[in-house]
Amino acid sequence: MSDYLIMTAGPTLVADNVMAARSAQAKNPRFDSSFNDDYKRICNKISSYLNTDKNTYIMCGEGILGLEAACASLTEHGDKVLVITNGIFGDGFADFVNIYGGVPTIYEDDRHNSIDLNKLSDYLAKNHDFKYATMVHCDTPSGVLNNVSEICKLLKSYGILTVVDSVAAFPAEPIDMTHVDILLGGSQKAYSAQVGLTIATVSNQAFFAMESRKTPIASFYANLLLFKDYYFPYSMPSNDISSFGVAIDNIGDLTDFQNRHFEIAKLCREKVLDLGLELYLDGGHSNTVTVINIPSGKDENYFIDRLLNEHNIMISGCFGYLKDKVIRIGHMGESAREEYINRTTQALKAVL
Ligand SMILES: *Cc1c(COP(=O)(O)O)cnc(C)c1O
Repeated sequence: MSDYLIMTAGPTLVADNVMAARSAQAKNPRFDSSFNDDYKRICNKISSYLNTDKNTYIMCGEGILGLEAACASLTEHGDKVLVITNGIFGDGFADFVNIYGGVPTIYEDDRHNSIDLNKLSDYLAKNHDFKYATMVHCDTPSGVLNNVSEICKLLKSYGILTVVDSVAAFPAEPIDMTHVDILLGGSQKAYSAQVGLTIATVSNQAFFAMESRKTPIASFYANLLLFKDYYFPYSMPSNDISSFGVAIDNIGDLTDFQNRHFEIAKLCREKVLDLGLELYLDGGHSNTVTVINIPSGKDENYFIDRLLNEHNIMISGCFGYLKDKVIRIGHMGESAREEYINRTTQALKAVL
């Protein structure tokens, strides 16, 4: 049987040089200054990929840590937060706001398409008394891509701070950081490193809001302010970070990388439609994940098990209200290659 192929919506395939770097001897993050240099080099490289002078930090913990850290660091008791959502990760932000004593207001839009900017603009004209707003760039369970650059611009025109979950989007999807206060990423998605790191790019305005709190941040592990001056509140996972650095270097030219994702996503949708399958979304397709309706009478395991056992390909099912409704092919980073899309869709054909 051919090689094991990971085509899930994250974790994604990890390149050999990234795996090798992760197996090296650990550096002592407290006493070895070369760890510090490496950490800053990687953080700066991400900020330069983002074309921003906002600083980037890497935290030890899978991407969810970033979502919690943004809410933990910004939310004080009674703070009003706008939770903009058209998907499962979008909804989830309300939980973090509640945990830290904030008051979420849910703004919900069509789950089969990108958030409508005109509708949001009309809503904000009447409702804009919020400390910050949360949103998701690519909401992975449905694969919907939101125009977060423009959404943040609207929000900032009312002085609302902006938090963006781009775990399943950047660096595969472009983003304009001008109006983004906190951008969150995860090592295991389009970066194609192993699971375990949160990447947070934070504006001075967001740090100022944290420093201006009346009450202390109610967390240690999820406190972004501790990272501000590149202080490490615990022993950093040096191997995770140096191998992540190799994955960042593997990206190469960002425009080429993003164009490749655009082409691969288009190819994947075409091949899926050629098989007579339906896409979940009406529009707003991301370049990182293709979400396919499960034909009636079947469940997700019918596809997942056969693809794995008969073709050695791992794809994703879903969760929440999309469980057994859709299957998902991830094509991020190392998984975004034409030969892998061909192999996956041919296997899907055989299963059908
Ligand atoms: C993957 C992902 C996360 C991180 O959560 P997981 O536990 O890895 O699923 C957060 N947000 C989005 C949009 C994601 O796709």
